[in-house]
Amino acid sequence: MKPVGFVFGQDVFCPGCARGLEEEAWPLFSFSEADHPLHCDQCGSLVPVMMTDAGVYYIVDAVRSDRMRGSAVSAEWVRAYFPGRESLAARLEKRAIA
Ligand SMILES: [Zn+2]
Repeated sequence: MKPVGFVFGQDVFCPGCARGLEEEAWPLFSFSEADHPLHCDQCGSLVPVMMTDAGVYYIVDAVRSDRMRGSAVSAEWVRAYFPGRESLAARLEKRAIA
């Protein structure tokens, strides 16, 4: 099974940005769990691990918060973690542009 990302020290990396660090870094798999969405500290891409229950609450709270409502990141989280709710993601993205 291929890792979907790596943890190196305090930082998270996608497989592309972890090139050369794989031996020393801790691998993350699609079944690894986190309490909030993980993004590569190098390029910002989503590292698609599973969410714990706390992680699901985190996403719902974040998407509805004034800070993140309508942002491209919250739309990306909806697409990744609530598949089948793409219309919700599209509405969120539209609000990011407006
Ligand atoms: Zn990256």
